[in-house]
Amino acid sequence: MRTYASFREIQHDLQHGKISCQDLVRHHLSNIKSKSHLNAFLSVYEQEALTRAAEIDTKIKNGTARRLAGLVVGLKDVLAYKDHPLQASSHILDGFISQFNATAVQRLLDEDAIIIGRQNCDEFAMGSSNENSAFGPVLNDADNSRVPGGSSGGSAVAVQADMCQVSLGSDTGGSVRQPAAFCGIVGLKPTYSRISRYGLAAYGSSFDCIGIFGKSVEDVALVLEVIAGADEEDSTVSQKPVPAYLDDVRRDDGRKYKVAYVSEIDNSDGLQPEIRQSILAQIEEIKAAGHEVERIDFPLNEYVLPTYYILATAEASSNLSRYDGVRYGFRSSSANDLQSLYKKSRSEGFGKEVQRRILLGTFVLSASYYDAYYTKAQKVRRIIRDKTKELLKQYDFIVMPITPTTAFKLGEHTGNPLEMYLADLFSVQANVAGVPAIAIPCGTDNAGLPIGMQLIADDFEESKLLHFSDSLLK
Ligand code: GLN
Repeated sequence: MRTYASFREIQHDLQHGKISCQDLVRHHLSNIKSKSHLNAFLSVYEQEALTRAAEIDTKIKNGTARRLAGLVVGLKDVLAYKDHPLQASSHILDGFISQFNATAVQRLLDEDAIIIGRQNCDEFAMGSSNENSAFGPVLNDADNSRVPGGSSGGSAVAVQADMCQVSLGSDTGGSVRQPAAFCGIVGLKPTYSRISRYGLAAYGSSFDCIGIFGKSVEDVALVLEVIAGADEEDSTVSQKPVPAYLDDVRRDDGRKYKVAYVSEIDNSDGLQPEIRQSILAQIEEIKAAGHEVERIDFPLNEYVLPTYYILATAEASSNLSRYDGVRYGFRSSSANDLQSLYKKSRSEGFGKEVQRRILLGTFVLSASYYDAYYTKAQKVRRIIRDKTKELLKQYDFIVMPITPTTAFKLGEHTGNPLEMYLADLFSVQANVAGVPAIAIPCGTDNAGLPIGMQLIADDFEESKLLHFSDSLLK
């Protein structure tokens, strides 16, 4: 079977009886097998997916199939899928089985999507290269000596290598957009609170967003439309009605936008030259299409990354305190009292990066340093949000790189955590501000590695963001 660039084409062939859902599942399963060295999946639900595909084929015949009939989806290992393992790629959750479906997962199932498996990621979504997984790194399908990005590396590679049509990941500081850029696909982080977080393993709750990977903007728009919106299981989720994103993408209203691009694109030494050239070429095309483009400086750049790493680690230290060896998964077998049970279970169950972040987060929350770090970072976050929103009042979109470089080599940054954190330089702003952002493919570098470009829009402007992104890919 051929590789489908979009779900629309799949639907066409399903309706015309050229393929079946079972063919689709078999096709993805065969890619998962032939590319198992990429290590993208932690579990493959082979039999289940085939059985469900057969059921949905019957529904299609009977005319009772729903909107996502034939869409084969993979789930990052941070999303709860009832009666299936959930580990956040960590040994601390060894043996843990989800007792309920995440809201996003439930909504996919309700619309007849087929879930094919659970995807590898950085442990508790902490990382930028997928090298922090307790189950080994994921390899980039464009070059197996390189990382796929992180933390949703398995989810990105699964779409890149056609192991599923769409993946759900999570984006706390770039974990959907950065791997999407490294793998040459589309990755959306919606507005904070657009999608319910019920059933998403918590990392930094005030940043965490479920995000979507696809080969086309339309696929991402359709999935967003299905999974977004109010949910009584998550009191932080927005009550705003969910627009018809897919129709909005397809609507050709000829609208002209006002676009800003950040000055780092032409003056930052740290930016790989081919990324600069590709994005500048894209900007020329945007101008040629009649949109207004201006260059801007974002004055608070140097504060964005530290703000993120202080607040995200603080929240992580609190969120991860629930893994105590008593309530979930792994328990050390060498403990002899309650204190040592906690200590040993956590020391043996969590990997190095997660421990580092729990320590960092506990430090910034400690009585003597709380004001100097945590409170201050909260204030800076507010200023960054206000400044970003001010710009988004003047411009429809801000264009930015996603990553300073294309996919780096496995092991290139593992020796120095700070160097790894710097890979998130351009991706964390949208999370700190809470606004939606998307990664779209934007050519390749001299070695043929994918380059991504980032577009940021104002809160709840996903329709506009998706529509414009789609127009740039045509
Ligand atoms: N790379 C960032 C981090 O390590 C982002 C992670 C994420 O978005 N989950 O925290």
